[in-house]
Amino acid sequence: MTEKILQHKHCSICGKAVPAEETFCSDECKEKWDAMVKKRKMMMYIMYGMIVVFIVLILFSGRL
Ligand SMILES: [Zn+2]
Repeated sequence: MTEKILQHKHCSICGKAVPAEETFCSDECKEKWDAMVKKRKMMMYIMYGMIVVFIVLILFSGRL
């Protein structure tokens, strides 16, 4: 029955304990997170692009 541990989360970047309404401990970690999300998004676009190219190649090779 100890309520020592208040509701809290951990910073998604460095793992520091932060209040429940916060996701990051500092602006620096938020920037790092944003950069990571951006990178991941770009990788996804590149993957989709490659899939599209692959499909187009298959369609064209089937016509030959
Ligand atoms: Zn942090």
